Amino acid sequence: MARYTGPVCRLCRREGMKLYLKGARCDGPKCPIVQRQPAKNFPPGQHGQRRTRRPSEFGLQLREKQKVRRFYGVMEKQFHKTFEEAERRGGVTGDNLIQLLETRLDNVVYRMGFADSRAQARQLVRHGHFMVNGRKTNIPSYAVRPSDLVSVRPESRRREYFTDFSAVLNTRRAPEWLSVDANELSGRVLSLPTPDQIEIPAFNEALIVEHYSR
Ligand code: SF4
Repeated sequence: MARYTGPVCRLCRREGMKLYLKGARCDGPKCPIVQRQPAKNFPPGQHGQRRTRRPSEFGLQLREKQKVRRFYGVMEKQFHKTFEEAERRGGVTGDNLIQLLETRLDNVVYRMGFADSRAQARQLVRHGHFMVNGRKTNIPSYAVRPSDLVSVRPESRRREYFTDFSAVLNTRRAPEWLSVDANELSGRVLSLPTPDQIEIPAFNEALIVEHYSR
């Protein structure tokens, strides 16, 4: 399963906004997006500091798609497949797309507070530390459903990472469509998230729909 392994701040600089890819470190003063001196808040690469031209319509659509894709840490092929599924479902495609991305197991593990970032959540899932409804599940794109129980595997609870993790979970806040039991190191999906329950940077999903409808 492919994943991006390059420098992640570069992705935020490319999109010109915070995508929160490094967990708690993103709120620190070293984030290039908030840094003023030395100024790093310009697109990466050799030509990043050139005067920017007005982007084309295609350019705007592409950037919007890339922002969402990078925010959730999904590669292009899988993102396109998710978009096709969102289209098939009927209703508002943009809302369906975000809902499908939110209900990925790696995102749910992150939202429940078991990881500091989506990348870390993905690694924890890949390494087999989680169960869904009592069955070991190590597929980050696994789509959780309402009433699913996500929990840390008994074998993994002895790991250093999960030792005293209840205290960490108690300091984190899960969104209202999820409930977390810090003592049991588990959480339940209460419902599918509605657009107003999903905390994400401002994206224009309509541009993504236009991008794939060309
Ligand atoms: Fe880097 Fe996080 Fe800032 Fe993005 S938000 S540039 S990942 S520190």
